[in-house]
Amino acid sequence: MGRRQTMQEKFKQQMKAYRKKRMKVDNTPFMPSDGIVYVMNTLNPTEKIKAEIINKSVKQHREIITHLACPECGNSMDWDGNWEAFICLKHGKKAIYEIANKD
Ligand SMILES: [Zn+2]
Repeated sequence: MGRRQTMQEKFKQQMKAYRKKRMKVDNTPFMPSDGIVYVMNTLNPTEKIKAEIINKSVKQHREIITHLACPECGNSMDWDGNWEAFICLKHGKKAIYEIANKD
């Protein structure tokens, strides 16, 4: 009985890790229906900034945003699944931009 529980426990942990990994891979933001995206600087989250979309892709028949222009310097930022944000390293200090809700 003890051994069986251990196996189940192990399986549960593996499933949890697997789901977490899947979510990490899958968290590229969807394109809003109106096509307008706001971001917020994670390190200074006071104002929402309208961001320019540079590149899109299609996932599961929906548009996703893969590249945004940095509001500070205009550099093309990649989506970073680990940070769950767009990151710019081009204008000196590292900037992390999260997608902001509109309201
Ligand atoms: Zn920048």
